Amino acid sequence: MTSFSPVTQLNSSQASIKKPGLRVIPLGGLHEIGKNTCIFEFGDDIMLVDAGLAFPSDGMHGVNVVMPDTSYLKENQKRIRGMIVTHGHEDHIGGIAHHLKNFSIPVIHGPRLALAMLTGKMEEAGVMDRTILQTVAPRDVVKVGQHFSVEFIRNTHSMADSFSLAITTPVGTVIFTGDFKFDHTPVDGETFDMARLAHYGEQGVLCLFSDSTNAEVPGFCPPERSVFPCLDRHISQAEGRVIITTFASSIHRVAMILELALKNGRKVGLLGRSMLNVIAKARELGYMRAPDDLFVPIKQIRDLPDRETLLLMTGSQGEPLAALSRISRGEHPQVQVKTTDTIIFSASPIPGNTISVVNTIDRLMMLGAKVVYGKGEGIHVSGHGFQEDQKLMLALTKPKYFVPVHGEHRMLMAHSKTAQSMGVPADNILIIDNGDVVELSPDSIRTGDPVKAGIELLDASRNGIVDARVLKERQQLAEDGVITMLAVISTDGVMAAPPRVNIRGVVTTADARKLSMWAEREIGWVLENRWNQLCRNTGGKAPEVDWVGVQREVEVGLQRRLRRELQVEPLIICLVQPAPAGTPAYKGRADDEPDSRPAPRGRGGRDAGGRAAAPQRQLAVVGASATATPTGTPAGTATGTAPAPVAAAASAELEPEPAGRTRRRRSAAAG
Ligand SMILES: [Zn+2]
Ligand SMILES: [Zn+2]
Repeated sequence: MTSFSPVTQLNSSQASIKKPGLRVIPLGGLHEIGKNTCIFEFGDDIMLVDAGLAFPSDGMHGVNVVMPDTSYLKENQKRIRGMIVTHGHEDHIGGIAHHLKNFSIPVIHGPRLALAMLTGKMEEAGVMDRTILQTVAPRDVVKVGQHFSVEFIRNTHSMADSFSLAITTPVGTVIFTGDFKFDHTPVDGETFDMARLAHYGEQGVLCLFSDSTNAEVPGFCPPERSVFPCLDRHISQAEGRVIITTFASSIHRVAMILELALKNGRKVGLLGRSMLNVIAKARELGYMRAPDDLFVPIKQIRDLPDRETLLLMTGSQGEPLAALSRISRGEHPQVQVKTTDTIIFSASPIPGNTISVVNTIDRLMMLGAKVVYGKGEGIHVSGHGFQEDQKLMLALTKPKYFVPVHGEHRMLMAHSKTAQSMGVPADNILIIDNGDVVELSPDSIRTGDPVKAGIELLDASRNGIVDARVLKERQQLAEDGVITMLAVISTDGVMAAPPRVNIRGVVTTADARKLSMWAEREIGWVLENRWNQLCRNTGGKAPEVDWVGVQREVEVGLQRRLRRELQVEPLIICLVQPAPAGTPAYKGRADDEPDSRPAPRGRGGRDAGGRAAAPQRQLAVVGASATATPTGTPAGTATGTAPAPVAAAASAELEPEPAGRTRRRRSAAAG
């Protein structure tokens, strides 16, 4: 079997001698639903297929969107020849504008509607000049680089203008289904071009990469049209206003709702930015036909009788800022719930949103509205095919090799079983993860060395990257609270005042006194055992102290002690206030409690340099006050001398020492 190292990929002439294979590398979309991003690589060419985003899961505090780690693409950006977009859902195009800031994509080929939606995102991000957008029509074939030619095959999905791809490469043809279901009566009349799939199936398909979202669901996915009579029944029976929420991007659903409004003599008011944007784009491009006078601005809609009103809005996922969620909390400036309202959830919650959705439904019901939701109502169908749809795809394309994609692990496994039941040998199927490299040759499929794949988290601005450390800190804050402490330490390594400890949001049986004592011990330990490493004698009068290092040492020590003794892991922030050399040590009483401190941390606790002994350090430790901690001097700037009043001020703020709390420790040098 040929092996393909990245080195051979860098040189196309050399690579062609070595008869390279095709490498397919998904960076997202596997073992998850979202951020679908796939790399096709042959010789010197890289072609991207889709680049989506995902939404944060619980615990990703302050994270707005989740992107795949694109280090591999940044490193190989010179080889990127272009991108193919299958359709306009966020999990397929939501990452593109962001990526264009980081690496170049010379050209993007995609459907008209998806590219129209992408244009809006690129304008917002200011990256319109970074690439060329090329609109494609069904059966168009585009060439990307030297090695790829891609035919766009019309498919059916919850989004209009969606495609499956036939990707022809030197080792064979790959069918990449994109998101699909087989809908024989699509709302827009654009039927699945099964003839093309069958054509490729006849010619021979090397590998099929197929949508696994509903691989666990038996049967055929009902057609989108089946929702129509159910929605019609609820709308026609409604006594008062009708309020409907769905995904703005479910173009067919929105088109049907507009049709039903017309049929039932109701005017439509739109709420939510994405609803307004998507409908405007879709109407402009002819994907929805609705007369202008069907729509009434939201401010005027209250002048109409309730029986002639239909409000279509965002919020089907219980997103806190979306229109329906705000209405349910009574926070919407224009719309308040009436007891005569019929509110229809024409969407099913994405896993992870279930709780916010049911909470929204509860609040709306408590306000007295009639709420229609749930599977039994027939008001929602999936845009992804079920098992029988997946079988039909396999039957038409007759692939030699099969890779289930777009799904969580159990969905991939179920899809693999389906393929086996259709006669694909288990050895010809790969279950892969993000970052895995599928290497294909005309007679083999295998995984190569994986590339770096992970996640990149963006905050609300979509520019700021929330790195793993920040996220960990936020989780600690949210789950275990925060402890701040101020230590006053002189540049010659003396604790000049007792540390001041401040606790917020920490649930613990230990009182402030105990925490203060532990803090003192940590500081004392660091001064005794780490000072020589943290303090560099530059030959001048004042030694250079690594205050950041001191802080970190104290934080780590206290963290360990809290984890061990209290089983909590609060965020710990230690601020060090440097005091001038010669500041007297804080005088406390002798040790009155045995120190149960653990063995020294890390590598040796002594300075190996054998420099002149550090100035004599006398440590005095007392109970700290639990009042608010004054802001300390940022350690980074606090080298050398600190303002003289600092230590005095800190000492002056000391509270009377409760009996039994103070103790005194000797430094090694003092001994
Ligand atoms: Zn989709
Ligand atoms: Zn998708």
